[in-house]
Amino acid sequence: MCVFCKIINNEIPSYTIYEDEYVKCFLDISQATKGHTLIVPKKHLQDVFALEEPFTSAVLNAAVKVSNLLKEKLGVTNINLLNNSGSLAGQTVMHFHLHVLPRYGNDEIDFHQVEHEPDFAKLDELYKKISS
Ligand SMILES: [Zn+2]
Repeated sequence: MCVFCKIINNEIPSYTIYEDEYVKCFLDISQATKGHTLIVPKKHLQDVFALEEPFTSAVLNAAVKVSNLLKEKLGVTNINLLNNSGSLAGQTVMHFHLHVLPRYGNDEIDFHQVEHEPDFAKLDELYKKISS
């Protein structure tokens, strides 16, 4: 059984700040920033490709609830919602989880990509491949 399934079953203690029938939301023990929370479906679904209803909706609804809870309790007004699906994307626990990552002015996290001119020929080709 994976570590998140053990947390869901309360075999491992957690700092759960929100929970309903479909999800459990608890503080990430590594706290990348203050209030960093994980939203985990209460079914072992590996990644975004495996996510299914009603868990899909429950995860995003919980993200809104947790975000507002962090706003109310910690004064958080900037948040990244982040999912890593697959090891190349940085997934380490193979049970889907959405990071709610509060952002602060001095947190030294940088997701900004290098800006460059759009390549419309490549975009056109990519769009046709995905949308056909
Ligand atoms: Zn699991």
